[in-house]
Amino acid sequence: MSAIRKLPASLVNRIAAGECVERPASVVKELVENALDAGAGEIEILIEAGGRERICVRDDGRGIARDDLPLAVEPHATSKIASDDDLFRIRTLGFRGEALASIASVSRLEITSRTADSDVAFRLRVEGGQVGQPEPCAAPPGTTVDVRDLFYCVPARAKFLRTAQTEMGHITEQLARLALPHPRVAFRLTHGRRVVHELPATDTIRERIASFYTDALAAGLLPVHRESGPLRIEGWIAPPAESRGSGKWEYVFVNGRYVRDRFVSHAVREAYRSLIEPGRYPVVFLFIEIDPAAVDVNVHPTKIEVRWRDSNFVHSQVLLALRERLSREKLDHALAPADEDQRRERIRQAMVDFFLHSRPQTAPEPASRPQSGATPRPATPAAEHPPADALELRAQPVQPALPIGVEPPAVEPAPLERAEASTAFERRPVAVQVHNMFIVAETPDGLLIIDQHALHERILYEQLRERIAAWPLESQRLLMPEMIEVPGDRLAVLEEHAGLLRRLGIELTPAGPQTVALQAFPTFLGERVDRPAFVRDLLDRLSEAGRRPDAETLIHEVLDMMACKAAVKFGDPLTDDEIHALLAQRERAERSSHCPHGRPTTLHLTLRELQRQFHRR
Ligand code: ADP
Ligand code: MG
Repeated sequence: MSAIRKLPASLVNRIAAGECVERPASVVKELVENALDAGAGEIEILIEAGGRERICVRDDGRGIARDDLPLAVEPHATSKIASDDDLFRIRTLGFRGEALASIASVSRLEITSRTADSDVAFRLRVEGGQVGQPEPCAAPPGTTVDVRDLFYCVPARAKFLRTAQTEMGHITEQLARLALPHPRVAFRLTHGRRVVHELPATDTIRERIASFYTDALAAGLLPVHRESGPLRIEGWIAPPAESRGSGKWEYVFVNGRYVRDRFVSHAVREAYRSLIEPGRYPVVFLFIEIDPAAVDVNVHPTKIEVRWRDSNFVHSQVLLALRERLSREKLDHALAPADEDQRRERIRQAMVDFFLHSRPQTAPEPASRPQSGATPRPATPAAEHPPADALELRAQPVQPALPIGVEPPAVEPAPLERAEASTAFERRPVAVQVHNMFIVAETPDGLLIIDQHALHERILYEQLRERIAAWPLESQRLLMPEMIEVPGDRLAVLEEHAGLLRRLGIELTPAGPQTVALQAFPTFLGERVDRPAFVRDLLDRLSEAGRRPDAETLIHEVLDMMACKAAVKFGDPLTDDEIHALLAQRERAERSSHCPHGRPTTLHLTLRELQRQFHRR
């Protein structure tokens, strides 16, 4: 008996479904792409239970004729291409003719459709691979594809589905990728009875970005435009100061299709290099139009990758377009004296605040500050009896990074304490800062070269780690909740990661479709960070983390991020006292360090090594 056999069609389809139907968001993608290909002006997406129970996409496009209905759910049946050559002039989003067949093989599917020239609609049901007969029914022109019980017959797949919130996060992200390049099409996404996104038709992409994300984000974007040969680039890019903690804010579309492309990504990173810190990512929306003959879109089952005929050309054009815009921006900044005045005023104000609030200092008093591990105070509602420290958290202009050791009193954690005289020296050891980046310090047996940011970050990270034992982190209630605009889908994070946020001492409540109210903030971070930016980054990160629900890893990632943001920056000038304070803390942190993660903080050169270098043996 032969061991090799041809697989039945139903199994072939299920295998194909494995490629393009990974989760509810993939179904949404395929169905909305079909609606866009059908020339729809309005698309409505209804989701039940994160898509596990129901995904229904309704459009007002050209519809499917009665006799075509059974064909639409056949594998490799498409109206979009007919010949080999067509593969090189693809203008539609679909062309493989697999999606409906694949989806039908793993769900209970029903298509209702009516073409413009017909008075009646027809409905077709497919279940368990069985295709029914088209039956007449009443419906407006257009198509509705209703998918129920996704993966009911593939338990292995169903097991990988996450919570409804997480699946909704993926669906929302998918909607962004479909809706941003098609501003003239109106979209509505509903989850159960909640309208998640309502995107009216508009002529401009900037407006679409605003209605999907926030007005604030859209308003700050810089337009980019470049045309050359078969290539046209339109872009909306954020100034470097608007960088994010996650790479997902790089949106690249090729001929209306969302793609991930390493050449374009590289060009983007290159354009922003030296303008944003390492580990940060720019916010970029790039729309590339190119002659379909110059790009192959048929290289990936979900078409998320493309192959360029001339990748170097694409790379250089993207780089030029962005670089040109960003350098103009830099120039504008340098020429704007108003900015400088504002900056001076902020610094002056910060100093006034500092002197107003600082206690008269009689002597260094490191012992008076609660040390790490001290019992944290619960956040006190300010209205009852405003703690003196709450004054520090009142809406203030963003202060410049606070110098180490001279923070406003009672803002936790204790500022780096004054240097303890090293036992090995009679005098205070020599320590200087060079290039505002490194500290060079004398030790009993040689010298140290220290990366100031890396060291401070490490110290703060260790302090935070110690406090893990005493969760939640001590937090401070703001006198006035701070309103922060965030993309609407981030609101789900508040619920999904409520426990973690509580442990971090962060209290956020929904305050509008795209607004959260910050009620309490970790004392540890105090005024060290720009709170809205911190909250936005944190929510970004948590919304991505849905896929990786390992709580411990996530906590450490977040602590890492807190430490990094609160630490002195590479490039910040430090006073002598601050330098010595850092050094004193260094000894403690190095000793207590359990996990030497990341980059080295310190190079140690011994006298012997130095002598050897100078041939003194
Ligand atoms: P593809 O999009 O690659 O052609 P699909 O399996 O997604 O393959 O769809 C098969 C065919 O069904 C399409 O080529 C199109 O003719 C038809 N079709 C699917 N959805 C719609 C829709 N919403 N409106 C009109 N026609 C549709
Ligand atoms: Mg399709």
